[in-house]
Amino acid sequence: MSQRTEIRSHITHLECSLSGEPCGHELPHRLNPKNGKPYLARYDLAAAAETMTKESMAEREPNMWRYREVMPVVDPANIVTLGEGFTPLRQAGRLGKHLGMSDLLIKDEGVNPTGSFKARGLSAAVSKALELKQMKLTMPSAGNAAGAMSAYAAAAGMEAHVYMPKDAPIANQIECVAYGADLNLVDGFITDAGRISGEAAEEHGLFDVSTLKEPYRAEGKKTMGYEIVEQLRFEVPDVVIYPTGGGTGIVGIWKALDEMEQLGWIGSERPRMVCVQAEGCAPLVTAYNKGEEFADPFPNPKTLAAGMRVPAAVGDFLVIRAVRESGGTALTVTDDQMVDSVRDMASFEGIFPAPEGGATLSALQLLLDSGEIGKDERVVLLNTGSAVKYLDVLGPALGL
Ligand SMILES: *Cc1c(COP(=O)(O)O)cnc(C)c1O
Repeated sequence: MSQRTEIRSHITHLECSLSGEPCGHELPHRLNPKNGKPYLARYDLAAAAETMTKESMAEREPNMWRYREVMPVVDPANIVTLGEGFTPLRQAGRLGKHLGMSDLLIKDEGVNPTGSFKARGLSAAVSKALELKQMKLTMPSAGNAAGAMSAYAAAAGMEAHVYMPKDAPIANQIECVAYGADLNLVDGFITDAGRISGEAAEEHGLFDVSTLKEPYRAEGKKTMGYEIVEQLRFEVPDVVIYPTGGGTGIVGIWKALDEMEQLGWIGSERPRMVCVQAEGCAPLVTAYNKGEEFADPFPNPKTLAAGMRVPAAVGDFLVIRAVRESGGTALTVTDDQMVDSVRDMASFEGIFPAPEGGATLSALQLLLDSGEIGKDERVVLLNTGSAVKYLDVLGPALGL
């Protein structure tokens, strides 16, 4: 093999997601200091396309690092992996039939290390932090992100500090302690935890890996988009339904679709992106419905789906843009609807989803009823996590 065709990262730089201003990726950058907006990673996709052919994918390792050319880690020795990604995209035949649908699919992220798709984002972020020699990490988290950061930090031999609202699921609190993280419970919301984590970062020289405030968690989550297309033999589904908190996943999947077009994997076709939020915490849906570009903080956020309990998202405009450009929509569901859907997904398909995953099924039912989704369309539901992380809230909700 000549050097030219070697499989390696083709990252070139970071780019401000609002102004387009470029910036190097060799230093630990966070938000653009000029406008407070996230950076996104950019690649030489023409060079990546030389090795990242559709044919070559079949022989690659079954985890998210199979997309090495479009991942941000330059030296493979810095990759911190627990086998995240390449999760099943399951044909949901029984559930589909129950709904009168012919092509319903569930991407089951609950089988990831640490029980949620947060493993993807944190594998990418912790690996890049290692590459940038940032060995002390901190993060505010509503739950699953903290567990994932703690696990990957443990695997990399790094220090992890976690700031979590004290009503976070007990499983997340326990796993952080088990992984050896420094767990700090905060009497307040995720936004309060974010402020305290930011102060700790300043004071003790910690690297804050809050989502979209550092650019690489989105790179991990974008691999869901690559996988969906690869698993559909390089076809694009009609609709993707995504349970949205900070929105990193929807931003990542949307970015992956553009990259795949430039790689020659797909054409200009796109799925309609559906953003689902909880009725008790819906800043992005509110902004979308008002026709706004940015979202106001949502007062008194309340939902049992901890991953969607995010009252203010720094990437708000990126989520809203993806939904609009794709011709998709944004809507809310209630906690009761989510719990009913958890039971339906479990009893029809043998997938025991997180309440967030349940929310995607509740949204699908509403959109089938309103006619916004047709029964013969190919729809992908993202089950973003495992119910096992939520037994403390699901037990009572299911009558136990
Ligand atoms: C974090 C989380 C979400 C929300 O993900 P974003 O990409 O931040 O919007 C959804 N579901 C689960 C299970 C989560 O942990």
